[in-house]
Order: sequence, then C-alpha cells, then structure tokens
Amino acid sequence: MSTADYKIVEHTYDVVVVGAGGAGLRATFGMAQTGLRTACITKVFPTRSHTVAAQGGISAALGNMGPDMWQWHMYDTVKGADWLGDQDAIEYMCREAIPAIIELEHQGVPFSRTEDGKIYQRPFGGMTMNYGESQAQRTCAAADRTGHAILHTLYQQSLKHEAEFFIEYFALDLIMEDGACRGVLAWNLAEGTLHVFRAQMVVLATGGYGRAYFSATSAHTCTGDGYGMALRAGLPVQDMEFVQFHPTGIYGAGCLLTEGCRGEGGYLTNANGERFMERYAPNAKDLASRDVVSRSMTIEIREGRGVGEHQDHIYLHLEHLGPEVIHERLPGIAETARIFSGVDVTKEPIPVLPTVHYNMGGIPTNYHGEVVDLVDGNPDAVVPGLMAIGETACVSVHGANRLGSNSLLDLVVFGRAAALRCGATLTRGAPQKPLQAGSVDKLIERFDRIRNASGSKSTAQIRAAMQRTMQNDAAVFRTDATLAQGLTAITEIYNSFADVKVSDRSLVWNSDLVETLELDNLLGCALTTMASANNRKESRGAHAHEDYPERDDVTWMKHTLAYVEEGGAVKIDYRPVHTYTLTNEIEYIAPKKRTY
Ligand SMILES: Cc1cc2nc3c(=O)[nH]c(=O)nc-3n(C[C@H](O)[C@H](O)[C@H](O)COP(=O)(O)OP(=O)(O)OC[C@H]3O[C@@H](n4cnc5c(N)ncnc54)[C@H](O)[C@@H]3O)c2cc1C
Repeated sequence: MSTADYKIVEHTYDVVVVGAGGAGLRATFGMAQTGLRTACITKVFPTRSHTVAAQGGISAALGNMGPDMWQWHMYDTVKGADWLGDQDAIEYMCREAIPAIIELEHQGVPFSRTEDGKIYQRPFGGMTMNYGESQAQRTCAAADRTGHAILHTLYQQSLKHEAEFFIEYFALDLIMEDGACRGVLAWNLAEGTLHVFRAQMVVLATGGYGRAYFSATSAHTCTGDGYGMALRAGLPVQDMEFVQFHPTGIYGAGCLLTEGCRGEGGYLTNANGERFMERYAPNAKDLASRDVVSRSMTIEIREGRGVGEHQDHIYLHLEHLGPEVIHERLPGIAETARIFSGVDVTKEPIPVLPTVHYNMGGIPTNYHGEVVDLVDGNPDAVVPGLMAIGETACVSVHGANRLGSNSLLDLVVFGRAAALRCGATLTRGAPQKPLQAGSVDKLIERFDRIRNASGSKSTAQIRAAMQRTMQNDAAVFRTDATLAQGLTAITEIYNSFADVKVSDRSLVWNSDLVETLELDNLLGCALTTMASANNRKESRGAHAHEDYPERDDVTWMKHTLAYVEEGGAVKIDYRPVHTYTLTNEIEYIAPKKRTY
C-alpha cells in the first residue's frame, strides 16, 4: 500500500490537545472556556487515563489542619527536587495551588472533609512546616481515590464547555515544518482512518513512560508516546535519568499502595521486625522523601534483612490503625492488598518493594507550558506551535525527585497555565497556512513501514528485553559498570526494532500494531534514560550513583538534554537550572546538604 492509498480525514482547530488525563482535560476545558476551538485526542476513554489511579492526594498550602504557607510548600519542593527544579516554575505552582484546589472544589471534586467541613489534608513525605521544622498536613484527599474524583470532575467540565473529543484515536506524530509544530497525525483505532489535525497549537499531555520498566505502578497505556513524538521531531527530552521508585509497590504485582498509608500512620519493617527508617531518617522516619525510603529499603534487602522466603521484600504495617481508619481513609488500599497479595490489612502486614512510579524527565517547557529547546546558545528558545504539560513535560517543578501529591497539582496548575497562555496569544479562527507538500507523507510512510514490518523479532520479545535491561541496569542504585553495560544493551535493543515483526496488517482494532507503535516510543524513552544516567557523574535525588555518592553542585546543577540521532546515538547537552524566582516575595533558595 502506498501512502496515497490511505483514507485521510482533515480537521482544523485552534488548539489540539493530545491526551485526556488530568493535564489534558484541564487544558482542554480551559482552552474551550477562552473561546478557542479545541479538540482533544485520546487513545483511551478519558476517564480511563492513568490519572484515575492516583490515590493519595493533591498538595496545596490551604492550612486547614494547622498553619501553612505557599512559601513553605515552595521550600519543600525545591529541597525535595534536590535543587534541580526551576525556582520560577516552582513558585508559580505553589502559589497557584491554593486557587487551583478551591477551583476544583467548586467544580465538584468530592474531597474528604474535616469535622468542621473543610477539605481534609493528610501528611505526605517531604511536606513540612516552617522551612523544614516539622511535618505539615498539606495533601488534600478524596479518601484514597483522589485521582478518580478529579479526573471525573475535569471530564464533566470539558463536556460542559463543549470541547470536541476524538476518543480512541492514536496520535502517531507531530507535523513539523521549519522548526514549528503545525498539527498532529492520528489513527482512528475503530474505523482505521488516518486524520490530519491542523492547529495553531498542539498540546502534548500524553503522560509518563513507566512501562519501559518491568515492574511499574503505571497503567499499561503509559508508554511515553509524547516523548517518542518529540524525539522523532528532533526535539530534546530533559532530565530523563531521574526515575522515581515508589517505596510501596505490592511485591510481585507492582500495584501502588499510596504514600497516604504512611501518612495515616503506617510503617515499614525488616526481617527483624525493626522499624528501620528510624535509623536512616531519624526525623522524617517513614515519611522521608521517596528516594530516601526506596534506597533504605534496597539497602535492608541487600544486607540480608529482607522478609519472605527469598528475603527480597519489606513489610508495610497498617493493622495497628484499626478497621475504622482503614475503612474511612484507605478503603481502596484494603481492596488492592486483598486482591493482589491476599492480605487482610487489618490483621497482617503487606509485602512491598520499591517500584517504578513516576518520570521526572520530560519534554522541556517554561511555566506557561511552551516547549523550549536550546537554539544558538539560547536555552529557553520557544518551539512555535507546541506545548507539553503533565507527566510528559519537564517544567521543571520536580527536579531530581518529585514529592508525593505534587504531580496532581502540576497537572491542574500547568494545564490551566497552558490554557491561559493560549487565551492570551491565539485568536479564535485565525487563518492557518496550508500544510507543505510532503510534511505528512513522511509520517504516513513510517506508519506504513511499521504496519508492514516483517522482521524476525516479535514486539513482545523486544519489549521484554528492554524492560529487563531497564529494571536491572537503571535501577534504584547505579554504578559506572551497570550503566555502561546498560547503555550498550539498550542501544542494541533500540536498533533491533528495525527487525520487528507485526503479524496483523489490518487497520481496525489492531492491538498488535498499537503495541508496536507504543514500543517504538518506549524505546526512545529507555535509550535516553540510560544515556542520561550514564552521563551524570554525581548522586542527586532519584539518581543514586554509587561511584559518585555526593551531589556536585559545581559541575552538575544543570538540566540534561538528550536528543536521539541515527543508529541510536544519543547527543547530550545542558540547560541551566533557573536559580531565580518569579517575584521577589521569596528569595532564591540556595542548595544545602540534605538532612532527614
Ligand atoms: C498508581 C498511581 C498513583 C498515583 N498517585 C498520585 C497521587 O496520589 N498524587 C499525585 O500527585 N500523583 C500521583 N501519581 C502520579 C500522577 O497520577 C501522574 O503523574 C499523572 O496522573 C499523569 O497525568 P497526565 O495527565 O500527565 O497523564 P495520564 O493520566 O497518564 O494520561 C495520558 C493521556 O494521554 C493519552 N495518550 C497517550 N498516548 C497517546 C497517543 N499516542 N495518542 C492519543 N492519546 C494518547 C491517554 O489516552 C491519556 O488520556 C500516581 C501515579 C500512579 C501511577
């Protein structure tokens, strides 16, 4: 079949949002609200996006449970990020958090309540009062189903504002002309047609890439499609070496048990029954930040103090909380533990293990959501026509390590920021130039090539090799040796995609082809993660390098940019960290040695 044989349907919108998770939906209805003609394309039904699985909550210094200030939230986020976050963007997020939560409440999110009717807030790791003095209660929760509550509310708002949805459409590639994004090519999974969406602005909100690893808490749909599209367009991804392991994934299944478990008083023990976090983090204990808890658990297991037959996991205890607290605050956790590990949490501890959970790395943007690239020495050069928000973006508010409950916040704050920016800079119905001949053809050629791929390796074989390599060599702890070996292996696996075989050639509900396209995107993520990790010779946040155990602010307080070139070569460059704030209401927070 030649590209001319595909049935192409053309659309023109002011804005096309790709993705209908928390970030995509917040942007979609915000755009529609400002009067822009807005389409939202999504490969899964909106309320099945991974955001629906978020449990613990969303942070904001509301001060409902004790004194709080956005400045304290900002300090914690800069520190949690291990001084790799951009302080202007962090200030923006923590200030805007307060109106963002009130807005969600007014839109109908059924938050849990305090006795006097205020939004209930729970303690979460790294969230403190008075610049690190004591634990804060800052995480707003709807029991342990906060993402579910937020996502459904945002979808209702999008329908109310009459955004147009293209559901079960798979975005294939960005349409780029002369360094600017002009639209996106998508495949209608149900009908088998290809669709060209022309737009003044394309917003990538496609979520993370947890599925590059063998064990991840993220949905099977978290395949880094936005990262893949950006890399194929010649754009960089930023800070990919920073992959967050959540301390409490269920042993074996990988399903998440929210940090809210420890926020409500749960704790971890080793084979001796010891609450070992007291040794590693005497102040924060079980609520130290996620990188610290994951490393401590890994050390316990390595030194022979793991629990279970193979001494290869740790116990999480909730039984002392009593059935009432569990029923009211953690009902979903009790259900998950029963189904996936056969445990009654009111009676026994749950077997857990650090599991890949979140990607700090993403497509670099400024705090308006505009994608930036390093062009002619300008590290903040805006890529015209393209925005990125949510987990697929790197604003960077999470730096080297994200604090729990700051991601849901990132989604709504920057989804809204992108809509505000488009409202201010775009005109409804502004004429758009016709697309240049050939700019879509080469994208269809790639699709056709993969659809007809007849190599010798199955998609599942290549994916399994990738997931194993990432799990083993880009793990909680890394060394020069594991990373060098990992980079050789992952480059080979990346190149083996040229030999992939797709057995189903149809265009309607072809899950074989969907998985193969997703694998191609995951491979770009895996390759840049390994190469960026191999390049960074220090330890910072989630990047724990055993050959360079110290943080090195002189050489390495900078963002890594990674571009993929021919043959799987990765070109590395850097952008400076924004060490200035947005207003002068708070001073630049200078790096300090971390204590816990
Ligand atoms: C189990 C779990 C629990 C979590 N709990 C919390 C929590 O309590 N608090 C917190 O702050 N954070 C939490 N997080 C992190 C947070 O939920 C995620 O980072 C966040 O939901 C990501 O949202 P998103 O909008 O960027 O993407 P997602 O919600 O992943 O949505 C991605 C969207 O993009 C679409 N898409 C992807 N590729 C394509 C394509 N090629 N074509 C068309 N559409 C595409 C999908 O259909 C989907 O609509 C949790 C994460 C997990 C995995």
